[in-house]
Amino acid sequence: MGRYVYDFSEGRRDMAALLGGKGANLAEMTRLGLPVPPGFTLTTEACRAYLDTGSEPAGLWSAVSAHLSAVESAAGRLLGQADDPLLLSVRSGARFSMPGMMETILDIGLNDDSVLGLAKASGNERFAWDSYRRLVQMFGSTVMGVDAGCFEGALAELKEARGVPDDVRLTADDLAELVETFKELVHRESGEYFPQSPAEQLRRSVLAVFQSWNGERARLYRRREHIADDLGTAVTVQRMVFGNLGPDSGSGVAFTRDPATGRPGLYGDYLPDAQGEDVVAGIRNTVPLTELERLDPESHARLSAHLRTLERHYRDLCDIEFTIERGTLWMLQTRVGKRTAEAAFAIAAQLADEGLIAPDEALARVSGEQLARLMFPRFDTSHAGEPLVRGLPASPGAAAGAAVFDSAEAVRRAKAGEKVVLVRQETTPDDLPGMIAAQAVLTSRGGKTSHAAVVARGMGKVCVCGAEGLAVDIGERRFTAADGTVVQEGRIVSVDGSTGAVYSGTVPLTDSAVIRFLEDGSADGAATGAVAAVARLLARADAARRLEVRANADTPEDAARARRFGAQGVGLCRTEHMFLGERRTLVEAMILARDETEREAALSALLPLQREDFTGILEAMDGLPVTIRLIDPPLHEFLPDRTDLAVRVAAARAQGAEPAAHDAELLDAVNRMHEENPMLGLRGVRLGLVVPGLVAMQVRAVAEAVVRRTRAGGSPRAEIMVPLVGAVEELRIERAEVERVLAEVSQESGVPVHCPVGTMIELPRAALTAGRIAEEAEFFSFGTNDLTQTTWGFSRDDVEAAFFSAYLDKGIFSASPFETLDRDGVGRLVRIAVDEGRAARPDLKIGVCGEHGGDPASVHFFHAAGLDYVSCSPFRVPVARLEAGRAALEATDEGGGSDSR
Ligand code: ADP
Ligand code: MG
Ligand code: MG
Repeated sequence: MGRYVYDFSEGRRDMAALLGGKGANLAEMTRLGLPVPPGFTLTTEACRAYLDTGSEPAGLWSAVSAHLSAVESAAGRLLGQADDPLLLSVRSGARFSMPGMMETILDIGLNDDSVLGLAKASGNERFAWDSYRRLVQMFGSTVMGVDAGCFEGALAELKEARGVPDDVRLTADDLAELVETFKELVHRESGEYFPQSPAEQLRRSVLAVFQSWNGERARLYRRREHIADDLGTAVTVQRMVFGNLGPDSGSGVAFTRDPATGRPGLYGDYLPDAQGEDVVAGIRNTVPLTELERLDPESHARLSAHLRTLERHYRDLCDIEFTIERGTLWMLQTRVGKRTAEAAFAIAAQLADEGLIAPDEALARVSGEQLARLMFPRFDTSHAGEPLVRGLPASPGAAAGAAVFDSAEAVRRAKAGEKVVLVRQETTPDDLPGMIAAQAVLTSRGGKTSHAAVVARGMGKVCVCGAEGLAVDIGERRFTAADGTVVQEGRIVSVDGSTGAVYSGTVPLTDSAVIRFLEDGSADGAATGAVAAVARLLARADAARRLEVRANADTPEDAARARRFGAQGVGLCRTEHMFLGERRTLVEAMILARDETEREAALSALLPLQREDFTGILEAMDGLPVTIRLIDPPLHEFLPDRTDLAVRVAAARAQGAEPAAHDAELLDAVNRMHEENPMLGLRGVRLGLVVPGLVAMQVRAVAEAVVRRTRAGGSPRAEIMVPLVGAVEELRIERAEVERVLAEVSQESGVPVHCPVGTMIELPRAALTAGRIAEEAEFFSFGTNDLTQTTWGFSRDDVEAAFFSAYLDKGIFSASPFETLDRDGVGRLVRIAVDEGRAARPDLKIGVCGEHGGDPASVHFFHAAGLDYVSCSPFRVPVARLEAGRAALEATDEGGGSDSR
């Protein structure tokens, strides 16, 4: 049997798996000598044992008693002692931070007797009754299951009856009366009396916190954040300190830097005469830390020093909770703080500059996902006019949607495909589903450390909070702006989480500062810190990475942009896109051709157009490889819809007319080519093998483009890629044709044209016979989209909407295999193909050109699997560069990476 309880002095920061993040960090602060009220932590193991068996593991309570005795003797008072009670908090804390998702109970140890003792000992009767009513409220709702709204309602009623705007104005008598009301409420709602025994209060609180691990909102949060369901929560028991002892007391939250922008300097909110969550709950308006400096300069100075200590010790942005009890500062929590993408880059670069972390560690501290977020568009406000209101820019980004006023409505509309903005006075953990469903969150109260702000930042969701100019009327489902504008539910608003401005209607979008920088190397004012950090960390990643990064580009414009974004070539140029649009009729003509002559006529009409395309792309990527894939999709994709045509022909016949000859012919062709499973039908290399002249025309277009570029003094590096090969024989025949045409063009032009010929590996059979295929291929490129479809037997278009969300819910996979490569299945095929391909041909060049090439987790896999390059859409190129660099560092520093959560 393991140990179930650790005193703060026995724990350490790296024991988070056992003590939870909160318990481990309280222990760490204790070790650092910071002023932490004493306490101890029950382990996650104890929680798991309890949740598994339904009863507390043997020995748990005797260990708790022993630790409690130590806290009591240090304080010289007993838990709940009638004349001068020691009070405790019971706090949840899992390995990964789940802010506000589980329960905490404060002021344990108060009852009808000890409340009088507390009043006398503190000399503050109001404080004693305020603490007692908080206990009954928290214990009643969390442990005894009484609806929290009942207590809120009773409190609101009392304030109204006394004509006071907030709880601070309630007197000791008011609060004593409120305690009675609360106790009656508890009895009425639960059929049980509020327990007077401090020991029972403690025990039941601990068990309730264990149980809150499986609460609905905790589960929802874990699913969204990909936190395992079987970790359990630790429980921390700690001596209470009191911020609600009057104006010389209070409680607050602080960050060592601004978590929204990364700007250095303390950042936080403080609320005088308050306990616990008051400061983040938006019940009264908080003041900034600069105000605390005026109110209580000594505590402020001490707080600043502690924050510096923590930041140097953790070598990262920390966020903390603190309480001041009659001028004495106490530290109640710290953790490495959540931050926006912008702040993540800015802070990583600053810490490296300050010498707190090595440059490579700075790279490990940011992610491709964060970089992608910085590349999202921003509002173009040049014509937007005056905003409706301005609040605090709590979590950046631009989002527009219909205003909705509660979580359920947000979820309902989002399910129906509508974009919504959740508008509340403030949010609580119960609003989580609505926050997930919304594009943005807008609140009229609370600071940058309020629940809305913290949770939105954690989710990377746009948030403006504390927009005090808004009068939010949840009942009437509308808000009113300062200028009198009324916005009813359903009206579109645009929320700018980077500036705090909220506009009525849809504001158009423009490029972000990072995109502007990538496009032309320029950066602009406000975001300079983050943009400069992006530039530096990308450069670092480029120096570290082994993987090359190419782009998937079908047009010269895309190729040029990809090159500006750092692409080292084109990994996939899809020729079929070049057959669409107005060229479709030419393809139609080729398909309908009745004889060789007609087909050749159609092909020669296509040839110059294709040559033009290739010339442009080779020019944009001059000196870099451009992998051109021969036509892939089924031919019927180029023909009109079968039903439309059939209806047209039938309608003509019904009117007694002959259908247009062209229509009839087309319908014939469409019927002839109809396939039940086009994905598995006549496409890829199969097309080239059965449609005469098709491959020759495409290869000729490539070769002639190479000749042109060579003559123009360029250095074109075209590569020809054959799709959907399953057997080496297919490739051998196709390759012979490719080489015949290349030789022909070389001969005609007098310019030698060498193009490496390779294949996609996108069928399981290709991966399994890669050794044979490599005999005919100079390179492999994994088409991981088709490879995923054919490995799982999924047709992507059919399955994603139909049942993927059910599969995700049931935990069959934790991410869609089309977004993140399935390592066990598809990944295994990739490894087999790499090994056997290289064994047959050691200089085989290997890359990937499916969308996975730009997915962070997949990039790490491709690095580990030994690929030479990844290729992705131009906008993902910077993301892939960054992640390829991080993957290289991780590989050299196995297990040394920091915990990204
Ligand atoms: P969460 O995980 O939601 O942050 P916490 O366990 O941190 O919950 O507690 C909720 C609130 O109660 C916090 O504001 C915290 O600072 C306060 N609190 C917890 N323990 C104590 C204590 N011993 N004395 C005073 N305040 C406390
Ligand atoms: Mg906390
Ligand atoms: Mg494919």
